[in-house]
Amino acid sequence: MTNNTLTKRKRTSLLVVHCSATRRDQDIGALQITQWHQQRGWATIGYHYVIRRNGTLETGRDEACVGAHVAGHNAESIGICLVGGVDMLGKPENNFTAAQFETLHGLLGELRSRYPATRIVGHRDLSPDRNGDNHVTPNEWLKACPSFDVGAWLMLNPPR
Ligand SMILES: [Zn+2]
Repeated sequence: MTNNTLTKRKRTSLLVVHCSATRRDQDIGALQITQWHQQRGWATIGYHYVIRRNGTLETGRDEACVGAHVAGHNAESIGICLVGGVDMLGKPENNFTAAQFETLHGLLGELRSRYPATRIVGHRDLSPDRNGDNHVTPNEWLKACPSFDVGAWLMLNPPR
């Protein structure tokens, strides 16, 4: 399947949280990310939602379509991108704003009401479990995205 055609997703089992891997002072949004992804030759932005630094929710790719955000799971997932996630040296950093987490919480609650059977994960949690112990541990992460522990955050902020 090529990323140049948008196809409808047949099932939705995962809500995947990402970051844009940009610095805290980079106030970008869906428009900028769309341009980056089109430069890679994609039809449009790979994520379905983008949450800007000020907490504004922006729509990306049509929610009903297969996204381009996580290897091996695009056909069954919705991708949400928080803007930020790296420090001034480009290293992973949980630098998201309270407004972004608030918007994320609301969005996940809303998506869960429409896709009740979905599991919410961070991108890094979908890295291959190379040693087969049923836990994807930091040494197995292909990427640090989204630069925070989504599972731990959900325990404190369960979607309503
Ligand atoms: Zn990601």
